Amino acid sequence: MGGTCEQKLADSSPCGRPEYHPDGGKCRLHAMGVVAAGDTHALLEYISDHADREVIDLSGLEFREVEFGEDFENAIVSHGHSLFSDNAIFDTCQFKRIGFINRVEFSDCTFDNTSFVNCAFGGDAHFGGSSFHYEAPPFSLCTFGGKGTFFNFSKFRGSSAPFDTCMVGSEALSFANCLVEADQFYIRIAGREVGFYDVRYLAVQASEIDFTGLKFQGHFELANDRRSLEVSPLLHFGQLNFAQMRSATFVLANLEKASFIHAILETVRFINVRWPDHDDRRIAYDELQHSDKSTLEDLRWEYQQLKKNSESNQDYVRAGQWFYRETEIRRQMAGENCGKRRFARLHQWFTCETYALYKAVSEYGENYPRAFLWLAGLWVVFGFWYFFTGFDFADRHVEYHMCWDCTRFSGEHILDFLRALLFSAAAMALQVGRTVKATSTGTVFGVIVQLICTATILPLFLLALRRKFRR
Ligand SMILES: [Zn+2]
Repeated sequence: MGGTCEQKLADSSPCGRPEYHPDGGKCRLHAMGVVAAGDTHALLEYISDHADREVIDLSGLEFREVEFGEDFENAIVSHGHSLFSDNAIFDTCQFKRIGFINRVEFSDCTFDNTSFVNCAFGGDAHFGGSSFHYEAPPFSLCTFGGKGTFFNFSKFRGSSAPFDTCMVGSEALSFANCLVEADQFYIRIAGREVGFYDVRYLAVQASEIDFTGLKFQGHFELANDRRSLEVSPLLHFGQLNFAQMRSATFVLANLEKASFIHAILETVRFINVRWPDHDDRRIAYDELQHSDKSTLEDLRWEYQQLKKNSESNQDYVRAGQWFYRETEIRRQMAGENCGKRRFARLHQWFTCETYALYKAVSEYGENYPRAFLWLAGLWVVFGFWYFFTGFDFADRHVEYHMCWDCTRFSGEHILDFLRALLFSAAAMALQVGRTVKATSTGTVFGVIVQLICTATILPLFLLALRRKFRR
């Protein structure tokens, strides 16, 4: 006798408790390895022997049907310990009414039918890499209040939602790369003033929630509490495949700071959500965030997804707004490629200018009245031109000089100007010929220019009009 337990703990120091068995080199708890319901005194003894440490380490142990209750809380909390447990197994255990004051770490643990009921996590709570197999939700009536609550790479397998009436007040909550095999996963963003009351939801007050790479196939819903729509946490939905979910709904959600890079969004239902605005137009948060050129392709893809989403919900007005942004990104991409290869320059220049024209004339096909105004403008401007350059209109020759004196204004002038407008219309309609005739080089030149302009703008007008009526 006389040796101490050599078991390495989280800080890589040895356990150091007196050896339980002369040859084992381990204390009683570490020699047992498995803590069953009747052995809790061994656990409490272990904790009290380590009372001088900051961290109580339960790594590598297996717990069967242990109820972590008041005694456990007194042992841990009285000294303000943090709890560390790595690769521990909890089989049919229960943590009941425990207030963890400091950080708890349950990384890479296995929780089989184990639940945290009425527990409060005052420090950071890390459950990264842990697996939860359960019939009843592993967390019910719990509150998470530390700076961060992390379930990165955790796996939840159970018949119900993993959280039943829980509240996260942490700054950050992360479900990044989690696998949730449950029927429902409902998150409600609550304002600071709002308590939690709805059983179905996990109420969250965090200013950042990370769902990046979450895998889930049931019903997903993210909602802002009605009274807290002003709250806009940073939401990461990167690489989420919402199409795999049975349903995915954002209702009354504030998406002013939501990132959807590489997410598949076609099937998502957005109901009364709030998107960020930019120059009175809807825009994705990702575009406001990432101004650098490397993300243009990602942004284009995101807008395409959003556009498809609106189209499949027959919301063509919104689809048009996403299409506008998508085209704007395409235009930036075309501009980005300018001058990369010498060859391509002319082609690139042409592409850039085409986008510029497309935008100027019809806001990428979204504004057909503007395209119409362009056509009307062409008509009137060239009418003026012909009024002075001269033409024949049904046996009457019209030609005024630039120095035309307004004081000799008469009804005849108005009629001649109307003739000029008719001539202009005829030119646009390719009707200039024998009876309607250009009589000077200036007029012929005007007709050619007008035809080129018309041939460019008319299709853009028709395209915008077609889009309007397809809706
Ligand atoms: Zn030990």
